[in-house]
Amino acid sequence: MTPVKRRTGAPKRLGIFGGTFDPPHVGHLALAECAREQLGLDRVLFVPAGQPPHKPGGRRTSAAHRLAMTRAAVRGNASFAVSTIEAKRRGPSWTVDTLRALAEAHPGTELWLLMGADMYASFGTWREPTEIARHARLAVALRPGTRAPKTPRGVKGARVTFLANPELEVSSSAVRDRARAGRSVRYLVPDAVARYAARHHLYGSAS
Ligand code: ATP
Repeated sequence: MTPVKRRTGAPKRLGIFGGTFDPPHVGHLALAECAREQLGLDRVLFVPAGQPPHKPGGRRTSAAHRLAMTRAAVRGNASFAVSTIEAKRRGPSWTVDTLRALAEAHPGTELWLLMGADMYASFGTWREPTEIARHARLAVALRPGTRAPKTPRGVKGARVTFLANPELEVSSSAVRDRARAGRSVRYLVPDAVARYAARHHLYGSAS
């Protein structure tokens, strides 16, 4: 991974954006871009989960495909990059492990953990949330249908910033459903993602 560089001499700022990304869609990209701009992030690292702990069971797209689609989604944005840290790890992808590893790999860098309001609403139930909040500031995006609490319940010392992102009513599950029903997902996912999904027959007939 190339090191994060900051021009001004101020601490570097790295956004960490975990997700299942099955598939990555415009809601994810708009969130990341809004965070980059609002927080002055030098880079946003998309981290596709290997085995998402909050989404057990069910048939899911392989980590390799989700990684490839995420790479396709961020291509063309010099501030965005994709990490394989969780996709390559065996067992559930715990955010606390990822943050410990990234904090060690990027000493002196300010870490920001990006998430939508729906994930933030359950943050207190994640594994070691206080430890996560010690390593990273939290940046919480608006998401239609979810009202985020001001402070995460049961988490001490969390530093939380709310993003002023445009609310986009799009989700990976809705994209999958549309594709399976043979409906277009154009403009909901980047063209490169739609092409990849179609080529590998990931979500049924259309994309
Ligand atoms: P699914 O529909 O399969 O549950 P999803 O669309 O929620 O998937 P994830 O990959 O699970 O996508 O989400 C990764 C992160 O992106 C989470 O923090 C989630 O809150 C956030 N996120 C996803 N879609 C949006 C959106 N439209 N607006 C704001 N945040 C979003």
